[in-house]
Amino acid sequence: MIEYGSNPARVLFRICHQCRSTASRIIAVKAFPLISPPNFSRPRLLPACLTAVALLILTACSSAPNRDTIPGSNLNINWLNYDDPQATTYAQQCRIDFTQANRSFLSLTSKKSLATDKLLNELNNLHIALDKSLNRASLYRNVHPNKTLRSAANECFKNFWALNSEIGTSRPLYKLLTQVDTSPLEDIDKKFVEDLKQRFERAGVALSEDKRKQLKKLDREISILGSDFSQNIREDERKIVLDSPLLLEGLPQDFIDDHAPNEKGQILISTDYPDYHPIMQYAKHDRVRFELYKLFRKRGYPVNAGLLKELLQKRYEYANLLGYDNFAQFITADQMIQTPSHAQAFIDQINEIAKPKAEQEYQALLVTLQQTDPEASNVGDWQKSYLEEQVKREKYQSDAQEIRQYFRYDKVKKGILSLTEDLFDVQIKPWKTQVWHDAVEAYEIWEKRKLIGRFYLDMHPRAGKYKHAARFGVQDGVTGVQLPIAALVCNFPGGENSSGYMEHKQVETFLHEFGHLLHGMFGGQQKWLAMSGIKTERDFVEAPSQMLEEWVWDYNTLKTFATNDAGDTIPESLVNKMQSARHYGMGLYVRHQIFYAATSLNFYNQNPQNIDLLAALKALQGTYSPFHYVDDTYFYTSFGHLNSYSALYYTYMWSQVIAADLFSEFERLGLRNPTVAQRYKETILEPGGSQTAETLVENFLGRPFNFDAFAKKLEVHTQ
Ligand SMILES: [Zn+2]
Repeated sequence: MIEYGSNPARVLFRICHQCRSTASRIIAVKAFPLISPPNFSRPRLLPACLTAVALLILTACSSAPNRDTIPGSNLNINWLNYDDPQATTYAQQCRIDFTQANRSFLSLTSKKSLATDKLLNELNNLHIALDKSLNRASLYRNVHPNKTLRSAANECFKNFWALNSEIGTSRPLYKLLTQVDTSPLEDIDKKFVEDLKQRFERAGVALSEDKRKQLKKLDREISILGSDFSQNIREDERKIVLDSPLLLEGLPQDFIDDHAPNEKGQILISTDYPDYHPIMQYAKHDRVRFELYKLFRKRGYPVNAGLLKELLQKRYEYANLLGYDNFAQFITADQMIQTPSHAQAFIDQINEIAKPKAEQEYQALLVTLQQTDPEASNVGDWQKSYLEEQVKREKYQSDAQEIRQYFRYDKVKKGILSLTEDLFDVQIKPWKTQVWHDAVEAYEIWEKRKLIGRFYLDMHPRAGKYKHAARFGVQDGVTGVQLPIAALVCNFPGGENSSGYMEHKQVETFLHEFGHLLHGMFGGQQKWLAMSGIKTERDFVEAPSQMLEEWVWDYNTLKTFATNDAGDTIPESLVNKMQSARHYGMGLYVRHQIFYAATSLNFYNQNPQNIDLLAALKALQGTYSPFHYVDDTYFYTSFGHLNSYSALYYTYMWSQVIAADLFSEFERLGLRNPTVAQRYKETILEPGGSQTAETLVENFLGRPFNFDAFAKKLEVHTQ
């Protein structure tokens, strides 16, 4: 009832459009020659509409799918306007959207009281408007090929964020919510109201006018600082110059071919991932790795060092105003973990679990290093990936170069799409629409002939584009209003001037990010936008994606798509070796993640005035990582998560513990068992944020999660 709004003509209009039969669409068009949104309320159209609805139902709605099943599911084509080099159309559209959203907000706040249905519906509409503009601005500033437009999107994002903050701290809105009698409401509506009230309270709605003003100012400053911090990382691409191809010894031939010397005989190697990772993993020359490592860990420096200090300070003041001791205390309060001390205890617990295995692995690296450098007494951070690769090759006969020949990007993409279709019983089809760059592809997901979502794949690097791998929302799904739409933005090989061979690790990342996208699609059929898709606790949101990673280690899955250029399928014996080698390195990996988590938590759980960032980083690295700090590096200036995750980086390990437990159910019942996959989809993914993460996990496992499955992965094997 509420989901379609209170206007009956609008309800019927939507029902009519949900019909999938081509024939019935013709009938619908004939019956409604004048229908367009401004004509919704014409009562004289109602009888015609009722007749058409009957006809639509009679034609069974079962043949060719209609691409435009739900009004509002289409994107406004203007937002992708190419003929806009100065970004004027985009900026104008942003202003229009802003004015509209602001008007809706002001109209709502002018009301002294409002019927519950109406209030909740209006709030939901406001969320939809804000979410859409913020999502699109965020995507644009990260992917658009036009730098002017990226900057315009950055400005648009900042303005909408300020409005978002204004709405999130609005006393009149909060007052309207507190007037709602929740006793007759359905559970889902009750949760919507309670969650919203809590969000207002966490935003300081109960504070004095003066303090609220300070909060708003801080929020705006934090947003700008964070945005600039991330932009500085994004735009900072540094290069080392090699004066001979001999320095590329050890690298795969296709990498060497892609990096031919220029007319001066120089080879430029970038700090961007497609260069950085292969160099760290394969380059035989220690000096090449060392120089690139140092440059990589200087990205964002020096400008981001000052910016980060300021960001920490503003967030500290923000938390103080709300009555918290520090920002970590504020940000963990509505997570599964609840407090910084729980987070610290978790970090230390995982560190202890991982230590014996990490130590064993470190010694194996050192022994390998001593084969070429007998004097070596410790392993450098820049040597870790290279030596790990050597150990895996010698000890487990797992050779990444042999493996990667089976993972060309196009085959991997096909494999991941068909795995999704098989596991979750859906169909993925191309979506004909406008895209922001020629390399971008667009798809639709259908479930039993029902369109449930759409997505873009922007998968290869280019100048000025986001450097990492992530899912960006475009619009989150709301039942009967809009379909979920999202974009995967990655930097994998396979674009122009690239042969497209992926490392197995990148295949894993692809599936991980795709997992977030699927979570948004399956969980995007919600009544309230605030509960749509991945809007769950942040320390849970990684778990479904981390669990999905397991399938790229499963031979039965790999054999469906991993073939080399001669058409041979990846041998099962090679996958077995990969699995043995996978176990190696886990202890070091976990401790490395724990070092990052401890950095994120400790930068935020105290007064930043007392922190010397570099000294703190060195100390934490000494406590949690077996690899020493390298002079003249400033890791924290390019650790983007310090802005986006603030104190919550521990969530990656926390959700990994949950993921291991969730996966144990598939291990027990079969990775390709449709019954368990369906149960998983229904209990974990589809509810989105409509229940607490703790409840979702318990519903799937039939008990609370525990550490057992995760600890088992870190057991030390002596051989
Ligand atoms: Zn993730």
